[in-house]
Formats: sequence, structure tokens, C-alpha cells
Amino acid sequence: MPPFFYSVSHFQKILIDAGHAGEDYNSITHTYNGNQFTYSESQRIWALQEYLIQALKNIGFINTERLRATNNFVTTDGPVSGQTWGDWNEVEETERGKRATGFDLFIQLHSNAADNANADHALVVGRPNTVTFVNSLAEAIKNTMKLVGNSNIITTDYLVVTEAIKAGCPLSFLTENSFHTNARAAYWLMQDENLLKLAKAYAKVIKNHFIP
Ligand SMILES: [Zn+2]
Repeated sequence: MPPFFYSVSHFQKILIDAGHAGEDYNSITHTYNGNQFTYSESQRIWALQEYLIQALKNIGFINTERLRATNNFVTTDGPVSGQTWGDWNEVEETERGKRATGFDLFIQLHSNAADNANADHALVVGRPNTVTFVNSLAEAIKNTMKLVGNSNIITTDYLVVTEAIKAGCPLSFLTENSFHTNARAAYWLMQDENLLKLAKAYAKVIKNHFIP
């Protein structure tokens, strides 16, 4: 594989960020194969983040951290019942980018949403100088989640990625791990063993690309 502009040694710092906070942000109820369940992006992607941090530590990236200490909303006076999304003081994307200062690699994690309930592909956002990593990670997500759609890659600007790079973290990415609006994909993401598999797939791609 072509050499990278940057490399990340086991002693450098990795920052992982679950894209949304709270108990039930982007929650959606589905029935899949007779199982009714409610998927919450903030909950399941937080869980993916935790598996990924552990998987990275397990392969030697000991300086791997989470961007937010807890999955609670950040408010001035604490969560108040009955508030809507617009009332919350979530950590802004610009601030998240700034928190990547001092890190060598930053990844923000999501599941996606679409009007088309059949949409079922990965999306990885990264800069053009990291296109081989972006492609490999999208392919790994596709293979692990058995996605039916082609991986959809973006290598242009995206707010949190741009802000993290501006803050001095040269390798910054955002991933959409298929769609929570797709019942199959949401059901897949509800299974802890699947999140563990996905986390290990991420860790393997990171290791393969960034360890010289
Ligand atoms: Zn999201």
C-alpha cells in the first residue's frame, strides 16, 4: 500500500467521539424478522465507541481516549425532562474539533438517516491525502456489516473534520456506519457482538495503515 503522509505510532494519541449525546437521540422503532426494537444512535454509537477504544488499546494504542467523559448532554444546569433537542446545549462540532488538539488521529462515529428505508451503505469522510485509509475503512465497514450498497466516500471538507485538522490533528475522520433508518442495519447495530466485530475491523484498518 502507498506510504502515508503521516503515521501513528503506538505511543501517539487517538481520540474517538460518539457523534451525539443523550439517552435517545435519533431513536427509531423498527420491526425486523419479528423483533420489535428501538434503536438510539446516541446509545449504540456510544457503545461502538467504547468497543473501539478497547480494541485499539488491546492492539497497543494505549493512548486512546473518548472526547466526552459521559454520554449525558452538556448543559449549564443539567438535563431537564421534557426538553427537546433544540433546548440542549450539546457539544458543538467546532468545540469537538478543538478537543482534538494534541491528538494524532480523530474519528467521530455515527449511524446515518435517509428517507429511503433501504439505504444501507457506509460513508467515511476524510481529506484527499488520506484517501487510501478512507477507502479501506469504508470497505471494512461494508464487509463487516454485510452492507448491500456500495461504500460512499467523501473526501472533501466536513465541519468537525476540518475543525479537528485546524486544531492540529492531521488525521481526522467521520464515519456513518450504515443507516438507522434501515431496519436490517439498525437491528445489526443493536447486537453487542456485532459492535465488537465492527470495532475490531476499525482497529485492524487503523493498525494496517498507520503503523509504519
Ligand atoms: Zn449522527
